[in-house]
Amino acid sequence: MAGEAASIEEALALDAKYPTDALCEAADEVRKKWCGDTVHTCSIVNARSGRCGEDCKWCAQSAHHKTGIAEYDHIPHDEMMQALETNRRLGIKCFSLVTSGRKVSAPHMGYFCRLYKEAADKGGINLCASMGLLDREQLQQLWDAGVRKYHCNLETSPSYFPKLCTTHTYEDKLRTIRMACEIGFEVCCGGIIGMGESLRDRLELAEQARLAGASSIPVNILQPIPGTPLENIELIPEDEIIRSVALMRLVAPKCTLHFAGGRARLSHEAAARMMRGGINGALVGDMLTTIGNKVNEDYQLFSECGYKQ
Ligand code: SF4
Repeated sequence: MAGEAASIEEALALDAKYPTDALCEAADEVRKKWCGDTVHTCSIVNARSGRCGEDCKWCAQSAHHKTGIAEYDHIPHDEMMQALETNRRLGIKCFSLVTSGRKVSAPHMGYFCRLYKEAADKGGINLCASMGLLDREQLQQLWDAGVRKYHCNLETSPSYFPKLCTTHTYEDKLRTIRMACEIGFEVCCGGIIGMGESLRDRLELAEQARLAGASSIPVNILQPIPGTPLENIELIPEDEIIRSVALMRLVAPKCTLHFAGGRARLSHEAAARMMRGGINGALVGDMLTTIGNKVNEDYQLFSECGYKQ
């Protein structure tokens, strides 16, 4: 490979040439070289659920689809503080509120910033936010409330994204990410695999996230949700997931590559193989609207795979 990061063409050539074990070994070496053996953990709370006017095909929260999920405007104060405390006690490194919708309204932003301020005053955990396509002023409000990481998924490649969502664009996302970087946030930009995209699309997602300056890339595996346009899409095989993630590591060698939603469907062996094949972080606890793995089982998996907390 020329340089530190593999190009898309180089990664595709490796895919054509090598078996899965060889790709995992290469990914593991790259991860050890650039990221060491500390695992990154984060956790999210759904702070606003459903009623979203956007039409993302995979998402349970879009008002365009009939999924029957719980809908609410904002998480109650005590529930958020309790979740924060549980995460802190479990030693999770980063805690994020996630809201449905294109972006947060002004009154809700004031409310969420008060929650963040209280959380920042308590200390002991890094604060992250995932609140859609915010403008500069709103991002600054979050920064002033003590949030230091901003999450905005790119979801897939630039060319595949318009097939999945028509109400906002890739460029809208990149604009928010750019502004977050300019303010000083660390940014987290991942996506979903298994939405009918090609391997090239997955690699382009990793490349775009790297180029956007992401420090971490959460990788979700689509859990087709009844009522969404992707409800009947065929699940991609485990081996394809493992190979894709190993190659994404080669394309984004220095980023934390996170297990995120949908990994509950993986066997223990597959999850362990991926922890030794490119992955070095995990979203733990419950994940938005899909069932997550239990935190203690995750810690056991990390130490089994040679990671330090
Ligand atoms: S992914 Fe976000 S913007 Fe898209 S429908 Fe779901 S909540 Fe709305």
